[in-house]
Amino acid sequence: MKITVLGFLGGYPAHNDATSCYLLESNGYSLLLDCGSGGLLALEKIMDPLQLDSVILSHYHADHIADVGVLQYYWQLHVNRPKEPVLPIYGHYLDAEHFNSLTWPNASKGYAYDPERTLELGPFKITFLKTEHPVDAFAMRIVEKETGKTLVFTADTRYFADLIPFSRDADILLADTNFFADHTGPAWHLTASEAGKIAAQAHVNQLLLTHLPAEGDLNLLRNQAQSVAGEGVKVETAQFGLIMNI
Ligand SMILES: [Zn+2]
Ligand SMILES: [Zn+2]
Repeated sequence: MKITVLGFLGGYPAHNDATSCYLLESNGYSLLLDCGSGGLLALEKIMDPLQLDSVILSHYHADHIADVGVLQYYWQLHVNRPKEPVLPIYGHYLDAEHFNSLTWPNASKGYAYDPERTLELGPFKITFLKTEHPVDAFAMRIVEKETGKTLVFTADTRYFADLIPFSRDADILLADTNFFADHTGPAWHLTASEAGKIAAQAHVNQLLLTHLPAEGDLNLLRNQAQSVAGEGVKVETAQFGLIMNI
């Protein structure tokens, strides 16, 4: 599985970087994971967006879906060339208004994933875990069927213990790390220490810090996560164009 970071900021785009948006590729299949603000422009720098096979969304906060609308227009205005004439967009059905917006005539069709069941999507098998966040959001465990290689994406969440078994033995954990270790106040995201703790206790190989704050010292954020994750876990901060093969 090839993972390319397109957008990695939490909340809003900044410094030419987009919010949550990742490209997962396997066996010629291209899946877009979240479609945040600036995500389409970032994707255009990496590949022809019309070669996407599908899109899956963790939840309907704007920093994860802001570019769905323009992606739909992109399809609408390129009717003759897409690999998929109607782009499948997977989202949960717990918010009908947002779910219904995933369907746009002659451009895209929304498909509801059932968080209780495994979703088979091209070369991937995806299971879900409802997170603790102000709106319904789902972490995803994405397994490449042919190799068993596993990516876990926490989506947006505060810390809760079920994240550890859900992330168990993943080859890579993409963790929402919106806060530095000393964060106080409302916490609907993980701190660097909590991301490190999950990585250590779940015995993941690699921890990629995502949903990053737009301001602050990201080296410090990384060091805070690494000190808790321990030497056995490779810890990196996400940046545009970063590619990982697992
Ligand atoms: Zn977010
Ligand atoms: Zn959110």
